[in-house]
Amino acid sequence: MVSAAGLSQRVAHLSPSATLSISAVAKAMQAEGLDVCSLSAGEPDFETPEHIRAAAVRALEEGKTRYGPAAGIPALRQAVADKLQQENGLNFSRDQILISNGGKQTLFNLAMVLLDPGDEVILPVPYWVSYPEIVTLAGAKVVRVPTEEAQGFKLTAAQLRQALTPHTKVLILNSPANPTGAVYHRHELEALAEVILSVPDLYVICDEIYEKLVYGEAHHISLGSLSPEVFQRTILSSGFAKAYAMTGWRIGYLAGPKPIVDAAINLQSHSTSNVCTFAQYGALEALTSPLSAASIEKMRQEFSQRRDLMVQGIRALPGVTCPQPEGAFYVFFNIRQTGLSSVEFCQRLLKEQQVAAVPGVAFGADHCIRLSYATDRATIEKGLHRLHQFVCSL
Ligand SMILES: *Cc1c(COP(=O)(O)O)cnc(C)c1O
Repeated sequence: MVSAAGLSQRVAHLSPSATLSISAVAKAMQAEGLDVCSLSAGEPDFETPEHIRAAAVRALEEGKTRYGPAAGIPALRQAVADKLQQENGLNFSRDQILISNGGKQTLFNLAMVLLDPGDEVILPVPYWVSYPEIVTLAGAKVVRVPTEEAQGFKLTAAQLRQALTPHTKVLILNSPANPTGAVYHRHELEALAEVILSVPDLYVICDEIYEKLVYGEAHHISLGSLSPEVFQRTILSSGFAKAYAMTGWRIGYLAGPKPIVDAAINLQSHSTSNVCTFAQYGALEALTSPLSAASIEKMRQEFSQRRDLMVQGIRALPGVTCPQPEGAFYVFFNIRQTGLSSVEFCQRLLKEQQVAAVPGVAFGADHCIRLSYATDRATIEKGLHRLHQFVCSL
């Protein structure tokens, strides 16, 4: 099959990132002077902390402007290894770390070095928008496993066991999760680990980019910290975007078994080479400065209060349900009773009440809507009020 424009089969079925495109429409409406409440953002609304920006400016002024090693500057790779050891209980050495252009490139690199046509990748649904596209681009098959709202949208050991086939190569686990805010607890991870270890050669890609954003009683646990056996099977994908409000900097990292990391370095050396040199010095500051902890905690506490505000507002909507999100900055709620598809719901909500939200179909769940609380409380309150009017008008 050759497409009319001469495009490859690889990209013929690729859809644009739904989250990025809704934000773009909302921004365009705002630019026209409309009073849009944007609750669709996938990025923190805070500035990158001052000490991190200053470190990058300093690096730029010191002339850190040339090509560096494709894998990242050694000091940053070491700082990531130290962080993973101290905070996550993961024993990676410096040469098991690759610095990439965001978590997205990390995941893309991984798909390219791990997957062949015919391989299966298990994706718990709802999933982050880019996972299926990245897996499909690598030619592998996505195996979608729906999770239950009553289980907090978390994959159970029984569901994982059922989805396994002789072709299963990778499981992607995202905790805290986008779009649901789900955080896997220790006993849930232990149950999954038992199934994972029962299959030889199954790798788990742990996307832990929201690890710093957990609320209430919840705390983040890295799957790989459970035992040395599980550690051998885990590949970590993370980055600076969400924890440090550094989305535009494009810095993520991969940590995993050395042969996989070496292959990813090799691949990246032929695609993007090193991440922007002076940006890496900002990331190094983020990991090593004693000032960072307080900046992160301030953002986390603000997110925590907004979460409570938003969950309360959504639960007050007639016919709408949502589990308590324990991490990230999203609320994922069920609109089945409205009888609308998620796209109809979001299009009408934007048109009739000027509120931007993301349809759940983008995450594989057409009966749900994602709202983001990565915006100020006044916008959240106004958005919730309009959402209430909208749902009541249906
Ligand atoms: C934001 C995000 C990423 C990666 O973001 P980058 O900006 O590329 O670092 C990865 N996974 C999930 C689930 C995300 O929400």
